[in-house]
Amino acid sequence: MIHVENVSVIYNKGTPALKGVNLSVDKGEFVGILGLSGSGKSTLLKSINLIVRPTFGKISIDGDLITNANPKKLRTIRRKVGLIFQDYNLIERSSVLTNVLLGRLGYKSRLQSFLGSFTPSEYSLAMDALKRVGLEEKSFVRADRLSGGQKQRVAIARTLCQQPSVILADEPISNLDKYTGELVMEYLYEINKSSGITVLVNLHDTSTALKYCSRIIALKDGKIVFDKAAGDVTDEL
Ligand code: ADP
Ligand code: ADP
Repeated sequence: MIHVENVSVIYNKGTPALKGVNLSVDKGEFVGILGLSGSGKSTLLKSINLIVRPTFGKISIDGDLITNANPKKLRTIRRKVGLIFQDYNLIERSSVLTNVLLGRLGYKSRLQSFLGSFTPSEYSLAMDALKRVGLEEKSFVRADRLSGGQKQRVAIARTLCQQPSVILADEPISNLDKYTGELVMEYLYEINKSSGITVLVNLHDTSTALKYCSRIIALKDGKIVFDKAAGDVTDEL
């Protein structure tokens, strides 16, 4: 469902952050991306959402070429692609429920978005999403009252509310302690298994990747240097 074809990214005339990357990911895969800081993991995920535009190469999602998409098509594509960040990106002074509903904004006109009006069915989608990450009881709590792990679970719920076919998670557990990070991974794992949502996640820790991911990729200096099913990984990683 995701095809990355010969993609290179060069930021403002610097050295390339990605160098001719080729990658195909099938629906329902749970891909862990490993590599040292600066190896291009984040750039790869940002390219798949076109937050960063590849300097060269093509990317398609569900058969739609996104690298030449016009703004309208880009909007449709971005609805399908949920994003989770290292620092959660929540509106700290708003309630958990409001944060989760923001996953719906891509569906609305500018005026509706500005007014923040949501339908009853959108509220029930948001509540369902909160249930799936075990936070329905926190719906009316302000986001800044939550722990880091809870905030990341709200970010997962916001993404679910968007009904994505892919979730891209850029170092989602790097700011969390090991126990809390694994709990967040458990939720991503459960969502991947039960909904078949494809997940690509950048991680630092090999053992965490092996525990949750079905496939492990490693980047080095902007190139994929390793790509195997997790079950086939021996001691070479
Ligand atoms: P990782 O996620 O593996 O740490 P990144 O994709 O963030 O790697 O970075 C890859 C390379 O691109 C690094 O050399 C980094 O300094 C550079 N880079 C990342 N983002 C930018 C940017 N916005 N402008 C210029 N260079 C960048
Ligand atoms: P991470 O390792 O989590 O990807 P970084 O610390 O590399 O994060 O980058 C933090 C932010 O700064 C990112 O938005 C990245 O795109 C940007 N950035 C990274 N390296 C550079 C760079 N050399 N020049 C400009 N921006 C950069």
